[in-house]
Amino acid sequence: MENGISELKKKLCYTSVHIAAEMPEDIRDAEEFCEDYKEFLDLSKTERETVATAEQIAQEAGFVPFDRFGKYKAGQKVYFVNREKSLILVTFGKKPLAEGVRFVVAHGDCPRLDLKASPVYEKDGTAFLKTHYYGGIRKYQWTTVPLSLHGVVILKNGKKVSVCIGEKDTDPRFVISDLLPHLSMEQNERKLSEGVKGEELNIVFGNIPFGDEDTKDPVKLCVLNILYDRYGITEKDLLTAELEAVPAVKACDIGLDRSMIGGYGQDDRSCVFASVSAQVMLKKPEHTAVTVIADKEEIGSCGNTGMESLFLYDFMQDLCETQNAKVRDVYRNSICLSADVGGAFDPTFRSAFEENNSAFLGHGPVIQKYTGARGKSGASDASAETFAGIVSVLEENGVIWQTGELGKVDGGGGGTVAKYMANMDVDTIDIGVPVLSMHAPFEVTSKLDVYHTHKAVKAFLES
Ligand code: MN
Ligand code: MN
Repeated sequence: MENGISELKKKLCYTSVHIAAEMPEDIRDAEEFCEDYKEFLDLSKTERETVATAEQIAQEAGFVPFDRFGKYKAGQKVYFVNREKSLILVTFGKKPLAEGVRFVVAHGDCPRLDLKASPVYEKDGTAFLKTHYYGGIRKYQWTTVPLSLHGVVILKNGKKVSVCIGEKDTDPRFVISDLLPHLSMEQNERKLSEGVKGEELNIVFGNIPFGDEDTKDPVKLCVLNILYDRYGITEKDLLTAELEAVPAVKACDIGLDRSMIGGYGQDDRSCVFASVSAQVMLKKPEHTAVTVIADKEEIGSCGNTGMESLFLYDFMQDLCETQNAKVRDVYRNSICLSADVGGAFDPTFRSAFEENNSAFLGHGPVIQKYTGARGKSGASDASAETFAGIVSVLEENGVIWQTGELGKVDGGGGGTVAKYMANMDVDTIDIGVPVLSMHAPFEVTSKLDVYHTHKAVKAFLES
């Protein structure tokens, strides 16, 4: 009788499982896969660097720039770069485009601190940089963390200078200060959300004066002089520049069992890496496979490199013209994975989650029917048919998956690029790696989850 009950329970009940319990043979493969992933994270600290690294991986796999007047056969691989900030990779499939494509869209931008247009100032003998945060951050987390500066500056003569200071072992780093506990009694009374305010995210930039006693702001002059010496940059050139401060930390293993990865920018570069590495492995897929690395997701997918822009639509038009296909037929018959991370259940803060509907570290990529806030506001809300269709492809290919909401109902919320793809008349669903401490300077993921997200994307692109 007892045996019968446990069999009945097994047949009728569902709980998600840890990949290591179900497929221990994947532990080794996940570790190997994540060695490349850590390297990818270290090379890709900004949206531009992410696109450049992915472009290089694609070129090494035989991808060539797309020619809109070209004719392509199954198995041929092309790419398109949009303003150095978004990227489209295509492997042509055996079926005509009109039968639909398999889209995977991840985003290459991450929360960070951008420099303001006029960033350099001196106060009481120290030089600082003013910042304006990009994306959703908990501001107090960004103090007393070593930072590096990345970006591009266009000089008066039109020359474009790439800046990257703070990533090499011998480089200096930058940092935002915070009060010592001995003197923080007043600050301690602030609400956590205002513990450190936006205008307090000032980066320490220099401390040696340059000039004589009549020189105003001699420390500022000293750092400007170094910038000019090394890069030919003047203070005026900074007005038009794009400089981003990001954590100057390398990705590393986390846990005595080395089961996890710690690093900056895993939302959403874990999905970017899982998707790009899957795309470059394709031979001759059934449907044409299209991987997109989008920009500006963290600030609402706006701008001409974000998913609200027409760049993907126009690219698809050009792609369709190579086969005299109608773009609306292609979109209508396509399926899209919006590859973006989910929040992992955190036992230390369990009251923020609803544990029956949470994603757990190690239980595989989290597939989300809907994201959004409050009453699913801002979600694309995939259909049961789309969800079940994806699940069957994944399970046929040995992928362990789970579902889960970001947190409790009305606890907050967030969106992804899913709705922009759905707006194009494409069946779209969210899938991604569960992340601990999402949007913090140092985020944590499970190696098995990153690897199974890659396996999921590959199985989908081959379907
Ligand atoms: Mn994301
Ligand atoms: Mn995000």
